[in-house]
Amino acid sequence: MNAKVLETYKDKLSTLKEEANRLRQIHLEESQTTFTGSMDVIDEANVMQDKGMVLEKLETDNKKIRLIDAALQRIEDGVFGECQYCGDKIAKERLSFIPYAKYCKDCKEELEKEGKSHY
Ligand SMILES: [Zn+2]
Repeated sequence: MNAKVLETYKDKLSTLKEEANRLRQIHLEESQTTFTGSMDVIDEANVMQDKGMVLEKLETDNKKIRLIDAALQRIEDGVFGECQYCGDKIAKERLSFIPYAKYCKDCKEELEKEGKSHY
């Protein structure tokens, strides 16, 4: 992959990271406001559910940020675009869609079958 193409991916990843950080901030605030006010038992159950959902969203945000950071690191290391599992090149179409993809399509499907959901 040439330097110019890598630059493009770097830009894309930076934008994605900003976006993920912004979402994370929103979800963080949501998680902090969910517990305010008085509540009866039913409300509390609802709140717990909401809280669970918000925490799940936060976890997703965190995961995404980690994936993006890892991808940026791979650019630095000069191994960007290589499958972290089999070492093959990840298809360009896949990378342009998910620039933080860690695995090629085949490996991803294989890993999903094993119950590990990854990009
Ligand atoms: Zn692979």
